[in-house]
Amino acid sequence: MKYSYIDHLYCPKCENTYSHEEKNNLCECGSPLLVNYDLDDLKNNLKKEDLIGRAPTLWRYHELLPVTKEENVVSLGEGMTPLLHMPVLEKEYDVTTVWMKDEGLLPTGSFKARGSAVGVSKAKEVGIKEIAMPTNGNAGAAWALYATRAGMKSHIIMPIDAPLITRKEVYISGADLHLVDGVISDAGKIVGQSAHKHGWFEASTLKEPYRIEGKKTMGLEICEQLNWEVPDVILYPTGGGVGIIGIFKALKELMALGWIEKGKLPKLVAVQAEECAPIVKAFQEKKAASDFWPDSKTKAFGINVPKALGDFLVLEAIYETEGYAIAISDEDLLKEQQLVAQKEGAFICPEGAATFAAVRKLKEQGWLKSEDRVLCLNTGMGIKYPETVQEEAPILPKDATI
Ligand SMILES: *Cc1c(COP(=O)(O)O)cnc(C)c1O
Ligand SMILES: [Zn+2]
Repeated sequence: MKYSYIDHLYCPKCENTYSHEEKNNLCECGSPLLVNYDLDDLKNNLKKEDLIGRAPTLWRYHELLPVTKEENVVSLGEGMTPLLHMPVLEKEYDVTTVWMKDEGLLPTGSFKARGSAVGVSKAKEVGIKEIAMPTNGNAGAAWALYATRAGMKSHIIMPIDAPLITRKEVYISGADLHLVDGVISDAGKIVGQSAHKHGWFEASTLKEPYRIEGKKTMGLEICEQLNWEVPDVILYPTGGGVGIIGIFKALKELMALGWIEKGKLPKLVAVQAEECAPIVKAFQEKKAASDFWPDSKTKAFGINVPKALGDFLVLEAIYETEGYAIAISDEDLLKEQQLVAQKEGAFICPEGAATFAAVRKLKEQGWLKSEDRVLCLNTGMGIKYPETVQEEAPILPKDATI
């Protein structure tokens, strides 16, 4: 039996196809490339029950991942994060079920570990030795550490005000780190030029085809953890949109395999920050693509992406699942972050908190119904963002009693 059922890469815009055995970035038309698997063949060779007993990492789905030889897998044990029930918040929001998939438990502290584990493994498989990428923090941290694990050199450029801990994660990995006095798109321009000049492989969001495949495993895990049923709604904090594109791809592949019921897709909701909401704006205007969002800013740094290369794929996932796109103010998402900690004991990241604030808002607006079973993705651990908590505590003299 084959380790991977990958067949080829294809362009969702112009339908050009490419070989997965070569180094690939974008399609010649400028669109991101997607991975196609031979699902008919896989359907005959693998049953969902065959997964039982496999190790609890994302590599349990290796047939649906792009790495063809197990020896190329670069892993820090990523995957199978907890799917938690949030009983107090259910009452708070007045919806039947609230689940949280907690991606904060992954290596490097965010779900970016999924994309980099698979992306770096496939890069190794096709012989890439040196990668470069711009980042808002978490992706750079994950790619730098996984690249080191693979014995690869990495060049990472991030905005000066990206979360400090992610800068340190990159630095300690031994990567070549640069800071830019600007936003991620400025870092992207520099990476593009330097990668071209030095022959580094550009691993920027969606400029390489395999990060989506790693993030797809969130969707595979959600379905397996719910015993191959799907929630009614999945809310995702959307920046570059890779996660939502990946989850949508997972659902379609599972449907093609007959592992989940046909025609019962969960509604996918893209949650953005009010001051960086290009996808929400495009959704409201019923457009197929977004416009660049000038002067974007939010404390939820991972979703500060003014224009996503895969915006049209994000919007397609929303439209095809009859989902929604909603923006949350920084004030509201920080309030919700505190509430989730106080009500459920979970210290989540501001991006993840935005999805909980969105549940509240969508229920108030009537888009969510009381009987809905909703799933929020917490994409990173709260302790990566200590500056989001303004604590106050009295200082005691040594001999005090309280
Ligand atoms: C990168 C990131 C996001 C956004 O992810 P995309 O899949 O690119 O939209 C959300 N939350 C955190 C914590 C992130 O690091
Ligand atoms: Zn194309």
